This record gives sequence, C-alpha cells and structure tokens, in this order.
Amino acid sequence: MTVIDDRLNAIRGAAPRKPHNARTLAALAANPGCRRRTLMDAAGVNKALIADRLGYGMTVGQMSSIALARGKSFEAQVKAEGGNDLLRLLRLHLDLPTAQAHYHDLNPADDDDRISARLRRSQRALEEAARASDPVGTMFDHPILQLTMNGVRVHIEPDLIAFKFGDRFHIVEIKSFPIVDGVADSGKVAAAAQQAAVYVLAMREMLQTAGLSPELVSHEVILVCPRDFSNQPVAELVDVRKPLASLRRHLTRMESIDTLLPILPPSLTFDLVLDATGQPTRSPDDLAASVAQVSARYSPDCLQSCELAGVCRAEANGTVPVLGRVVREELGGIDSIAEAIALATGGRVPDDSQREAARLLRTAYQMRQQALEAMR
Ligand code: SF4
Repeated sequence: MTVIDDRLNAIRGAAPRKPHNARTLAALAANPGCRRRTLMDAAGVNKALIADRLGYGMTVGQMSSIALARGKSFEAQVKAEGGNDLLRLLRLHLDLPTAQAHYHDLNPADDDDRISARLRRSQRALEEAARASDPVGTMFDHPILQLTMNGVRVHIEPDLIAFKFGDRFHIVEIKSFPIVDGVADSGKVAAAAQQAAVYVLAMREMLQTAGLSPELVSHEVILVCPRDFSNQPVAELVDVRKPLASLRRHLTRMESIDTLLPILPPSLTFDLVLDATGQPTRSPDDLAASVAQVSARYSPDCLQSCELAGVCRAEANGTVPVLGRVVREELGGIDSIAEAIALATGGRVPDDSQREAARLLRTAYQMRQQALEAMR
C-alpha cells in the first residue's frame, strides 16, 4: 500500500470503499475541474451517504428494482447457452464465418473471489487472446478492467462481453432499453456510448501496458437491446470515437491526486464515524465543514450525475455557476447573480475583467426592456 493509498483511506474513513463503474467514470470525466468529486471518487467515498448526512439525499442514475430485474433477465437471456443469441447477432454485424465461438467465463468464481484476482485472470485471458493468431471468435464474459484516472488506477467491473474475432476486440454492451422500429432513446444511446468508451479506453490501456497495440480494440461497439418492447434481442454497431476523444480530453485535464493531496489539510476526512449499528454519529456541521474545505465546480449537469448535487447547489446558490456552463463561460469574471444584475442595470461599474460581459448584459437588459415596453 502506498502513502497515497493510506491518505485516501483516511479521507474515506471506516466506510467500505465505493467502487467506480463506467457511469461514475464518465460523469467524473465530464466535470474535470471539480476537486471535490475528484478527491471523493479517488478515495472511494460513498457520496450518497455524505449527502444524506448533510440533509440533501438524492438518487442519481439508479434504476427501479423492476427495471433492474428486467435488465438482468434480458442480459441472462442474451448470454444463455454460451451466448447463443449473442453469437447470432454478432454473425449479422461482424460477418462471422464461424458457427460457434469460445465462451470464456470471467465472472466471480464464488463470493470470496477478490477483484484483484479477477483482474489478473482477466488480464491474462485478454492478453493471451490478443497475442494469439487464432481467427476463431472468443467471448470474454464479465472481465475486470483497469483505468488510470488522475494518477490513480481504478478497477471497473463491467457487465459486458469483450468479443475477439480475427485481430480485433469489440466491446458488447447489453442494455435493457428498447430499440423500437430501429430507433432508440438518443439520450440512453449516448449514455451507453459514453460508458462503452470508458471500457474501450480501459482495454486499450491494459493492452498497451502489456506491450500490445491499443488499436486491437475497435472503436465500434455492439449495443444489444430488446426489440420493440419484446424480449427478442437486436444489435446495432455504435461508433464511440467521439465520446472516446472527449473522455481522453477530460482525463488529461483532470487534476492528479498526487498534486491535489498536498494542498489539502492533513487531517481532512469524510469519515461518518459509524456506530455499532452502522448509523453515522458525526455531526452534520462538522462534516459540512470538511466538505467545504475542498472546492467544487457546480453546474446544473451535476443534478444528473453526482449524488452531492444538492449539497453543491445549495452552496452555489446565488452564484453564476447555478445558471449553467454556457452562462458561466459568457459571464467570466462575474461571480454572483446579484453582481450580474447590477452590471446589467447600470447599478455597478465593471472592472477591466468584466467590461465585455457587462456590455453584453446591458444590451440584453435593454432588449428585454424594449420587448416588455412593446408588449404593453
Ligand atoms: S455535485 Fe458537487 S461534487 Fe459533484 S461534480 Fe458537481 S460540483 Fe462536483
């Protein structure tokens, strides 16, 4: 265990580590300037518990138990009998000449199967396949992947299949939202593509670390969904080059944990001090003071992707960032909404850094006044 691991464990406290998944990684990368989330995610802090203790509990991206059960049963159906249904779809989309494919089960062997042991097994299996010249298709069910984010290696446990055919790996994502008449919910497809991009990047990183070409992993992922609300699976090829490029860009902009930790108070912790029954005993005021020691970068997008959104929104109340990223960028140099209003209405003289934004605000304010006059 490194010094950084020790420090991150102390920051998390006694609570179990909350592992990353592709959704959390994609969301983290989408707000690379937020130190609060960067730190909490690197330390494996359960942000939902922190928000709950501070009185702002909210659920993010959680499916109902019915949707969850439906998703699991659809996935089990697609993977049944060594992936028979899946193989039929792969033959359609990848022109597989073979009638059969190997099925390599990388699911946990039992409850004690540790994630590090599963990562090693997955790495071995995928690297062996990458080196083999065997043209036969092989499905790797539920491999553990690893990705470096802000200087920390995080494990990802995707519910997916990596399929190797010829010299290419394809990520196969099984989702339970329907494709109706060939069209799926664009937001859900975009979210699936973002998650798949995380897997593509993680697999490429893994192969590269082993001295293999990252290009062995295709940017075309196979999305498998139910057709027309039935249980009949249908597949579409999705090109994830765009989300992949955006993910890479965001990852390079993220502050490294190595540089973040030294500027934080040495005693900082988000430990909830659980009692024997698992109930938090730390006072909300004390916890809030610790949370406030790490700067955040709130935007309304946080409401869709971060469990701390209620906390950060309340903290940012009255500031320009609550109006969204576009407004924040347009009003660079202006911190509060009250200041923006004062500049727009002429109640305040702009300083040099605010002059351009103030001109836009005054123009917008005058146009609004004229429009209101015309409506009278
Ligand atoms: S809600 Fe707060 S902690 Fe989460 S990403 Fe937004 S600003 Fe950062």
